[in-house]
Amino acid sequence: MHLGMLLEMAADGLADRTALGPAADGPSFAELGRRARRLGAALAARPGTRIGLIDLNSPAVPLTLFGSAIAGKPFVPINYRLADPQLRAIVARTAPATIIVGDGVAERVGPVDGIEYLTRAEALMIAADPDGEQGDGWGGDADDIAVLLFTSGTTGEPKAAVLRHSNLTEYIITTVEFGGAAEDEAAIVSVPPYHIAGISAVLSSTYSGRRVVQLEAFDPKEWVELVRAESVTQAMVVPTMLGRILDIVEADGQGLPSLRSLSYGGGPMPLPVIERAVGLLPHVGFVNAYGLTETSSTIAVLGPDDHHAAFASTDPAVRARLASVGRPLPTLEVSIRDAAGELVPTGERGEICVRGGQVSGEYLGRGTTLDADGWFPTRDEGHLDDAGYLFVHGRLDDVIVRGGENLSPGEIEAVLLEHPAVLEAAVVGIPNKEWGEQVAAAVVIVGEVSEDELKAHVRARLRSSRTPDRIQFRADLPFNESGKLLRRVLRTELADAFA
Ligand code: ATP
Repeated sequence: MHLGMLLEMAADGLADRTALGPAADGPSFAELGRRARRLGAALAARPGTRIGLIDLNSPAVPLTLFGSAIAGKPFVPINYRLADPQLRAIVARTAPATIIVGDGVAERVGPVDGIEYLTRAEALMIAADPDGEQGDGWGGDADDIAVLLFTSGTTGEPKAAVLRHSNLTEYIITTVEFGGAAEDEAAIVSVPPYHIAGISAVLSSTYSGRRVVQLEAFDPKEWVELVRAESVTQAMVVPTMLGRILDIVEADGQGLPSLRSLSYGGGPMPLPVIERAVGLLPHVGFVNAYGLTETSSTIAVLGPDDHHAAFASTDPAVRARLASVGRPLPTLEVSIRDAAGELVPTGERGEICVRGGQVSGEYLGRGTTLDADGWFPTRDEGHLDDAGYLFVHGRLDDVIVRGGENLSPGEIEAVLLEHPAVLEAAVVGIPNKEWGEQVAAAVVIVGEVSEDELKAHVRARLRSSRTPDRIQFRADLPFNESGKLLRRVLRTELADAFA
């Protein structure tokens, strides 16, 4: 299905419901459809073959997403917070295009060949003009490129993942029922628009009939206030956001009474954080969602029932599932393979591979990474248990090879985080003459704990080869603005510190 069709279904079928917050005066789904069609007609007539967006969250995000689809031009949301030279390089890779920009962006980037700027205010004015041309239908078909999304670049240079209309709509259709949301449901979107979670939140809310309430950029205090003020029922956060939200909720003791469902993902969630979240917000249904940009977001979920079952159970196998990402979506196939591409037995670790209609695995200028049978290698290490639960152990490229033994940083980080004094922990391999690589940890602590105590804590729970050889105590860890740990940066810093 084409994104234009998805919008048309919502505009016709959910016509009078409020599509965008605030509840009191936001546009209805029918009005969202009219505005997107006006912007789409204008974007079709503008120069360039793509439509970029460099802005914070605002009503321009859903309008440009759908307007680009109507114009038949790929939508390219770009990270607003990149440093000027990187931003300029990505803008140049997006040309020829019209780019919708927030305040000051055009001045920061400067003129680039093949790029025309349109301000957010101009785009919103075109969309809201009651006399504006609305156009008819939409450009292209379901196999065309809908979105070009630069991955976070946590493991290397950002790559532009190609997502086709059919990839995105396949995901949306299989995960939400059309118009299935209750009339009072509202989703807060506080992840950035250039992240797949931001795109999929807008698409699934539109398809299900849920009002979208936007926060320009994540701030824990504003997030909590907006959830309360707008009676938000659904939210999606990355791990670093959740801890900061819980600090506020715990301090003011007012809870989040309207919230029904909270999904988390985008990176491994430390168990102590989710245990704290369940304790503080017992009425909320927690969902761990595992996915990648290249798979149009979620491919496996650990739902509220699994969370409750794991907490309530005394069976270690069931409790352990809290550390899993649940089961793959029924419309997908997931397999675990060794380095030669062969399936590994249940319970053994290997590369997580996935196949299905929502999986793109294609990058701009690099072609497809799917194998001949359509399998996408995620570069994540994981295993499936005998009940079909998927466990993600981290990036294969982050595996530490110490004296010939392969060690997963995630396993060591989880044990470090079990120590009450450890607030944040990250583990990387650093070069070492004797072992090839050594295990180096960076920790942020509260209170007091010595290096030896932390090593003893890990040694008591894991084999000694998994005990960090070196530990650095720090004030913070290097995260990017979507809350992802920048391992490359940390590896260089620790290698220098312990050289
Ligand atoms: P780049 O590929 O440029 O390094 P990136 O991989 O960080 O960027 P994303 O597509 O946003 O870009 O991240 C996907 C990765 O995030 C997955 O491959 C996985 O390692 C991790 N991840 C996502 N969700 C979860 C989850 N629920 N639990 C554990 N890890 C997760």
